[in-house]
Amino acid sequence: MSEVVNVAEKFGKNVFNETVMRERLPKSVFKKLKKTVEDGAELDPSIADVVAHAMKDWAIERGATHYTHWFQPLTGITAEKHDSFISAPTIEGKVIMEFSGKELVKGEPDASSFPSGGLRATFEARGYTAWDCTSPAFLREDAIGVTLCIPTAFCSYTGEALDKKTPLLRSMEAVDEQALRILKLFGNTTSKRVTPSVGPEQEYFLVDHNKYLQRKDLIYAGRTLFGAMPPKGQELEDHYFGAIRERVAAYMKEVNEELWKLGVPAKTQHNEVAPAQHELAPIFEQVNVAVDHNHLVMEILKKVAGRHGLNCLLHEKPFAGVNGSGKHNNWSLTSDNGINLLNPGETPHENIQFLLVLSCILKAVDKHADLLRESAADVGNDHRLGANEAPPAIISVFIGEQLEDVVDQLCSTGEATSSKSGGTLKTGVRTLPDLSKDATDRNRTSPFAFTGNKFEFRMVGSADSISSPNVVLNTITAEAFKEAADVLEKADDFDTAVHDLIKEQLAAHRRIIFNGNGYSDAWVEEAEKRGLPNLKSMIDAIPALATEAAVNMFEEFKVFTKAELESRVEIEYEAYTKAINIEARTMIDMTGKQLIPAVVKYTTILADSLGKIKSACPDADTSVQEELLIEVSAYLSDMKVAVSALIELTDKCSAISENKEQATAYHDEVVPAMAALRAPADKLEMIVDKDLWPLPSYGDLIFEV
Ligand code: ADP
Ligand code: MG
Repeated sequence: MSEVVNVAEKFGKNVFNETVMRERLPKSVFKKLKKTVEDGAELDPSIADVVAHAMKDWAIERGATHYTHWFQPLTGITAEKHDSFISAPTIEGKVIMEFSGKELVKGEPDASSFPSGGLRATFEARGYTAWDCTSPAFLREDAIGVTLCIPTAFCSYTGEALDKKTPLLRSMEAVDEQALRILKLFGNTTSKRVTPSVGPEQEYFLVDHNKYLQRKDLIYAGRTLFGAMPPKGQELEDHYFGAIRERVAAYMKEVNEELWKLGVPAKTQHNEVAPAQHELAPIFEQVNVAVDHNHLVMEILKKVAGRHGLNCLLHEKPFAGVNGSGKHNNWSLTSDNGINLLNPGETPHENIQFLLVLSCILKAVDKHADLLRESAADVGNDHRLGANEAPPAIISVFIGEQLEDVVDQLCSTGEATSSKSGGTLKTGVRTLPDLSKDATDRNRTSPFAFTGNKFEFRMVGSADSISSPNVVLNTITAEAFKEAADVLEKADDFDTAVHDLIKEQLAAHRRIIFNGNGYSDAWVEEAEKRGLPNLKSMIDAIPALATEAAVNMFEEFKVFTKAELESRVEIEYEAYTKAINIEARTMIDMTGKQLIPAVVKYTTILADSLGKIKSACPDADTSVQEELLIEVSAYLSDMKVAVSALIELTDKCSAISENKEQATAYHDEVVPAMAALRAPADKLEMIVDKDLWPLPSYGDLIFEV
């Protein structure tokens, strides 16, 4: 038996959370800090020294030697620079441990090597990190020792956001202000704050670390660039929710424990659809904390894998031919006094506030479908979105049978007089309880699905930060709320005005609702008829960030300036180019150094054996060897032609200087050339002697974890 884990005792053990603060801070300081955290009030700079002192003592008691401002630059991952707590040695050669308010609140990492998309000239390298006191500081324990990590935002000298947190915090303020106006219209004056809550479900693959090390594609690109399908894939659907294997179970146990210590409420785990694929979902939290915690989840998944001889692949499509990984971003809006604005109640047709909120969100998603799709664009996700497994690249909203019926009633007669109810699900077995049934079945193919009291945005890539999708969700919702509040606050007859507005918004934006099968070809055609955008690749999606509609909205709500948006466009093109360039060069490297030599060796063995058989026994039938030799040699020459073409194209594209043109060329020319090289290589893998093939196969990787 393994040791008993007391979750309650472990949970948050390494977090400078409210309990610790209450214990360690003077009452007045604690109160001020809590006010900032809970009400979004401005941080009183005078308390910083006291908080820093308490934080330092707490951290040092737990063995911390260093602290770091932990931030989220536009690389999409997190960054940190560690400083020890020691002060300059005294004349006697002694050091004391120091950490001032200034060091807590502000850091000054050299920003010159982070992407800025032209926002900051390299000679002006100054960047600042600023404490986000609404996301708790935590201790990280690893080989380095114990480090106090302080979640921060990252800005340039001139105040432009250089990270993914600053715009998120700004978007939270925007939606808070506008949502409160909506609540107030319905007579609610007690709610003081509305914050988005987010629960991200994280998918990942686990492979054996030794096999991982034998694949340069996994090492450099995070995904396989070659690989023939094994005889069995995911067709039996026997992995989904299947019993968890021992080795993986031990891994999951440790992942959970590490996350609980960091205060991440890891809750659900199961096997996913593809062999070797799994999912972890924490309980939802305030969005900026959820984003930070999702970064910790990704970090811990990777770190703990190493301790179990495993490697965790977060890439959206590590293996062709089986499902890829995504991140389902469950999003809702909740007030400080517990009202979920997305809760329809039992009788949604009577819940006018909910219907207004719903119609506003439908409007927001329809108007800014391109932006929402863009927010989920990353290089790896191009293999999922629009391919026949993940949500399509077309944004639509699933609202379910019950709400669709209410919308129908409102749009046709102008009145909604009933709500379809769930009723009871008869199990037909006497010993089983009958279950109460939800009013709506689930839909698994919609990119944006209403699931009872939240929306589930399913497009996000598994390796990507969930910040951008939530920035967009918060801001487009703020805009729709604002437009509604502007009309309704002026209305003489509120009841009629709100009724008319709901009807008008639903009628105008109904086209975004789709409850059918999002994976079908018919939907692609239907969506085109409805005029919904279908941005198939990241390259098609990027421009959405800086359209006039996007710039106007983001500037109005002070989430992004035009310059910030334009810089992000540049960064995304660059990111695309760099990723594809690495993939292409990895393929070239593997082909030249591993695949071609292996095939040549195999043909030589075949030829030798052919010659030997012929001389030993001239009448023996050698047709099999001859045919094999002809077939293998033909694929070998295809591979050589394809790799030469890929080398030429990659060299040509890497010399292009303009970002958009370059990324587009990589997409249009290099990506197809990579596919052309992969095809003969995968054929050869199926023919060449397994002992000679230099890479672990798909079967080895996903069935033998
Ligand atoms: P599914 O059945 O969709 O796979 P999971 O249990 O894996 O569901 O994940 C659902 C996620 O949604 C969890 O992170 C959960 O905490 C989160 N969630 C539940 N209610 C809300 C809500 N009101 N707002 C935001 N997220 C929520
Ligand atoms: Mg799930």
